Amino acid sequence: MEWSGGPGARPGRGRRVLVVGGGIAGLGAAQRLRAHPAFSQLRVLEATARAGGRIRSERSFGVVLELGAHWIHGPSRGNPVFELAAEHRLLREKDLSQENQRRETGGHVGLPSVTYASSGVSVSRELVVETASLFHSLIDQAREFVRGAAAPAPSVGEYVRGALRALAAGWTDREDARRLRLALMHNFLNVECCVSGTHSMDLVALAPFGEYTVLPGLDCTFPGGYQGLTNHITASLPEDMIIFNKPVKTIHWNGSFQEAESPGETFPVLVECEDGGCFPAHHVIVTVPLGFLKEHVDTFFEPPLPTEKADAIRKLGFGTNNKIFLEFEEPFWEPGCQHIQVVWEDMSPLEDVASQLQDVWFKKLIGFWVLPSFESVHVLCGFIAGLESEFMETLTDEEVLLSLTQVLRRVTGNSRLPAPRSVLRSRWHSAPYTRGSYSYVAVGSTGEDIDRLARPLPEDGAEAQLQILFAGEATHRTFYSTTHGALLSGWREADRLIALQDPQAQLPGPQL
Ligand SMILES: Cc1cc2nc3c(=O)[nH]c(=O)nc-3n(C[C@H](O)[C@H](O)[C@H](O)COP(=O)(O)OP(=O)(O)OC[C@H]3O[C@@H](n4cnc5c(N)ncnc54)[C@H](O)[C@@H]3O)c2cc1C
Repeated sequence: MEWSGGPGARPGRGRRVLVVGGGIAGLGAAQRLRAHPAFSQLRVLEATARAGGRIRSERSFGVVLELGAHWIHGPSRGNPVFELAAEHRLLREKDLSQENQRRETGGHVGLPSVTYASSGVSVSRELVVETASLFHSLIDQAREFVRGAAAPAPSVGEYVRGALRALAAGWTDREDARRLRLALMHNFLNVECCVSGTHSMDLVALAPFGEYTVLPGLDCTFPGGYQGLTNHITASLPEDMIIFNKPVKTIHWNGSFQEAESPGETFPVLVECEDGGCFPAHHVIVTVPLGFLKEHVDTFFEPPLPTEKADAIRKLGFGTNNKIFLEFEEPFWEPGCQHIQVVWEDMSPLEDVASQLQDVWFKKLIGFWVLPSFESVHVLCGFIAGLESEFMETLTDEEVLLSLTQVLRRVTGNSRLPAPRSVLRSRWHSAPYTRGSYSYVAVGSTGEDIDRLARPLPEDGAEAQLQILFAGEATHRTFYSTTHGALLSGWREADRLIALQDPQAQLPGPQL
């Protein structure tokens, strides 16, 4: 049994709580519990060597590169990530302004600065604006079915394509103009795949799509790195509270476990780690990603999870979105350019083209964001989702760099465009303790499955028996896939335990 000394551990006193996973959900739960005297015995078990999980900032090429979370979505009062970031002075002045906080974006990605097409020409701004506005209105319509009207298709993708097919029948453009319009639509659908973290919008359920809630505010980044936020939370916890390199193998529950150091005391849960270490506890808050749960659902809990919860884990969606950073000697883009869109004229949402992943994976890349440029540092950040993204993870850096150099030469029409100096990318699908990027409500599941996943165990037990609690982005019904959803879910489960121990406790807000 491993529960030795330190400020977090005093055998025999108070409730013993283990948090599994040191991402923002787990860190938020630990920070909240630590502030209450009933939870003096608290540990966070983290599988990897670092805290932050899918918030991961690295300093490379002389700039901050976000391998995971990039933006605060909906940075305005009421978003706890925005509020914490503002409190710790981690944001730019302009991002704190009232004007910025009031901006309503509808959750849509902003327009690109320039759009390159595969024939080596740039697409007119007018056509891009017009097509983006049509696409966004279709996505807005797809969100409306949550209000009760019967969804006319199972998935967002099928709904958008159906509406597009009907519209395209009335287009009177020349064939090449019509193709370009459809190719732009294809790109916007791929952008939406990045937003939803899915291979195809045909996998994203239509009826519950509008349950995801967009907060006001123009999305903003952290100039010093997103990880500054999780570093602040980590620094507020006692040094030995987080145990790193401690992957949990199995959570034994509904038991009666004992340890030599606490004679006469029994614990309903025993957490067994990969290295053989065992931690008995009264309560465990599980915050591991849905991707990890999917892979280990049959072995991670003993006894196994109730069927309903295991089914929710299987049915909810969890896909891949990755970033590819390219460092250039000199920028080939115009000063002030922020976002380069790349459109393949042979792609259309109305046609299925069967091809081998190795031949076409790069066509899923939606384009590049220009990272804030310094005098001698020029970096682009590409986004790519789905199976093509997972295939990209299997390639070498040289292969990725070569393919993307060819793409850039082709779309800019400049066959001499210098190759990037170096490449760095995320590989979230291969990461054994994540297995993808973030969750979505897949065809065949509903928001109710998110609530099923979030319900503590045992489900039929009295409140006092709360043994396993579930947090993490995939457990937040309206803010899944975000950092604020993850943080709120960690607070929610900490508050559940605090309310159990201390029904009179004044719980701090916000309770979104
Ligand atoms: C590429 C990418 C881009 C994103 N962009 C944005 C964005 O712009 N804005 C936004 O709001 N969100 C974004 N997100 C999503 C956001 O990063 C996540 O929703 C959030 O960070 C999840 O926090 P979490 O605590 O739920 O999970 P995680 O951060 O994944 O934390 C879970 C922790 O559990 C650990 N763990 C797993 N298995 C075990 C085990 N067996 N034993 C012990 N520990 C274990 C993991 O190592 C990890 O540290 C992005 C994510 C990715 C991948």
